[in-house]
Amino acid sequence: MKLILLGAPGSGKGTQAAYITAKYNLPHISTGDIFRENIKDRTPLGLKIKELIDAGKFCPDDLTVEVVKERLSKPDCTEGYLLDGFPRNIFQAESLDNFNQPDKVIEIEVDLSKIEKRITGRRSCPKCGGSYHVDFLEDKEVCPSCGDKLIIRKDDTPEVVKDRIEIYARQTQPLIDFYEKQGKLLKVDGNQPIETVFEEIVKVLSK
Ligand code: ADP
Ligand code: ZN
Repeated sequence: MKLILLGAPGSGKGTQAAYITAKYNLPHISTGDIFRENIKDRTPLGLKIKELIDAGKFCPDDLTVEVVKERLSKPDCTEGYLLDGFPRNIFQAESLDNFNQPDKVIEIEVDLSKIEKRITGRRSCPKCGGSYHVDFLEDKEVCPSCGDKLIIRKDDTPEVVKDRIEIYARQTQPLIDFYEKQGKLLKVDGNQPIETVFEEIVKVLSK
């Protein structure tokens, strides 16, 4: 099953991706995670995009498409994958269609009013990719999945969040029409508790 997760920043893509990939045994491909890993390891790619991401901007399209193309060519992706954070615009979606067509696209819909609180409360695990909200963590500093130290992402500040949401509305929302026309779009209500959102995803995928 080749899946794409769409939704505004903070809509819960990373959170749901962890559940989906575990249940369906798919590799979780998050372009954000790939970029952050490269930044941490100071690779040439990492150095190039560090400045952009710190400012809440995105990596240039051609480079992003190249990174995804390479990742999807690995053997663990032949049976399927879950893409999270890609594609972000029509150019990227059309490029993807040229080398690897997704089967289904899940859109997580969340009210804008909730998003800022979710993102500014997000705590991320650099080791296992886990994403949590500070309000629900017993120990605010330690990853409940792997025990590593949690971090606050540099682009999770209120100022940068506003920019990212604006870019999302302008560039990524048109993808919803794009995939709806292809008959691939499945919508779920992301305003509900994490487990309920996941149940809805399982339900729409089984149809
Ligand atoms: P995205 O990957 O779409 O940017 P995340 O999965 O990282 O979003 O979620 C952003 C923040 O919102 C995290 O702090 C996460 O714990 C929290 N969150 C995710 N899903 C829900 C939900 N259904 N209800 C409440 N908080 C959520
Ligand atoms: Zn972890």
